[in-house]
Amino acid sequence: MQDCIFCKIIKGEIPSKLVYEDEDFVIFNDINPKAKLHYLAVPRKHFAVLAEMEKQDEFLLGRILSKIPTLQQKLGLENGYRLIVNQKGECGNDACQEVMHLHIHILGGEKLSM
Ligand code: AMP
Ligand code: ZN
Repeated sequence: MQDCIFCKIIKGEIPSKLVYEDEDFVIFNDINPKAKLHYLAVPRKHFAVLAEMEKQDEFLLGRILSKIPTLQQKLGLENGYRLIVNQKGECGNDACQEVMHLHIHILGGEKLSM
């Protein structure tokens, strides 16, 4: 998708600190970390929000969610982590989704408050 910052990162057109990649998704450091460790897991396929998911994307998201726990040691998340998916709604953006390419925030490396 043209003009999508995460598509550009995936294509290597914008630099990022990549920590994991496979055929389905990438994980890189968030540029503005909200915790000691803050990564973004981003599917290579562009879709903006969960509401745009197609049938085959259910498998893709399942793969990402099942892969993340296997990377705990590599990512320094042995003490646990938090996953966040901000979603813009049909009529507003209460969750403040900033980048319209689906991504999962992975936060950890310290005790997180709610
Ligand atoms: P969200 O508000 O859920 O859409 O989160 C978007 C996240 O993308 C924010 O935490 C930003 O700090 C992060 N972000 C924006 N641009 C970049 C970039 N070029 N590299 C890494 N992370 C980015
Ligand atoms: Zn994109």
